[in-house]
Amino acid sequence: MIRAPFQLHRPDSIDAAVRLLSRCAQNGEDAKLLAGGQSLLPSMNLGLVAPAHIISLNHVTGLDAIRRDGETLAIGAGVTHYALAESEVLQTHCPILSETAACIGDVQVRNRGTLGGSIGHFDPAADYPPVLVLLDAAFQVVGPGGERTVAAQDVFVDYMTTSLGADEVLTAIRVPVLSSDTGTAYVKFTRVEGGFAIVGVGAYLRLNPDGTCRSIRVGICGAAPVPVRLTTIEDTLTDRAVDDTFIEAVADAAYETAHDPVAELHADADYKREMVRVFTRRAVKTALERAT
Ligand SMILES: Cc1cc2nc3c(=O)[nH]c(=O)nc-3n(C[C@H](O)[C@H](O)[C@H](O)COP(=O)(O)OP(=O)(O)OC[C@H]3O[C@@H](n4cnc5c(N)ncnc54)[C@H](O)[C@@H]3O)c2cc1C
Repeated sequence: MIRAPFQLHRPDSIDAAVRLLSRCAQNGEDAKLLAGGQSLLPSMNLGLVAPAHIISLNHVTGLDAIRRDGETLAIGAGVTHYALAESEVLQTHCPILSETAACIGDVQVRNRGTLGGSIGHFDPAADYPPVLVLLDAAFQVVGPGGERTVAAQDVFVDYMTTSLGADEVLTAIRVPVLSSDTGTAYVKFTRVEGGFAIVGVGAYLRLNPDGTCRSIRVGICGAAPVPVRLTTIEDTLTDRAVDDTFIEAVADAAYETAHDPVAELHADADYKREMVRVFTRRAVKTALERAT
């Protein structure tokens, strides 16, 4: 049940949405953007938030496009999880994003929920953030001062807190076109099918022509309040043979990095840490199979 009245706005452009956000901020009134409503509406139903103004992005055109721009893929903030999962462009050039989108919630959530909404809400168990961090994604944001670009690493700053301003709209996320010698995988440990991740691990492995490691990146959710990227292994494992010893080194590094995971009802901190190791091993193995 929605517990408090609010005023609904339906702007038809990003600029109009930004003007509304700015006006609310100047008047000291709480305003929230509405995308798919899959996180905002449950939060309102539970009484966790009660914005005086809701600014729907559902009448703004151009937010739902996925297009290739040279060696970059630009994904509109309004692209749904379903569209991400089904996109041929993404399946071909950045399959880890399609794989990630496909494991979010259930059919209803994927049909309505959007990439931008997931970033804006930023649940620490959300699946996109660790993947966007390992891909070095760039976020395009529009505010009263114009457009700015923020690196994924600088967006997720604390538990359910992003660096996006209250008067800013995320419009698109840019990720690189991955080369054919790159294998990626996103694996997720959940209590029930379609549930939020207890631990989620994304792996990116690019091979040299001789099969050794050219580049390895791992991003993890569930290990800390913000997504963790295993930067410690990125230089030390370059040019090494990708064998069982290599995979164990990555899994051990993940275990060491996840030294203080947030305990939850179904998984205490020690258990989560062990699952970080197990799911990192699985993600890297799958990425290797896909790279060769
Ligand atoms: C049953 C259920 C299961 C779920 N399971 C998962 C799961 O397994 N994994 C997972 O990652 N998520 C899961 N989710 C969350 C889901 O992914 C949501 O779709 C997502 O978190 C929010 O997207 P939305 O488009 O619905 O945003 P909304 O709910 O409309 O908005 C969420 C927040 O983002 C802000 N916002 C929206 N768009 C923008 C924008 N363009 N710029 C700036 N701020 C914006 C809003 O103001 C609001 O604060 C689940 C949700 C439900 C209800």
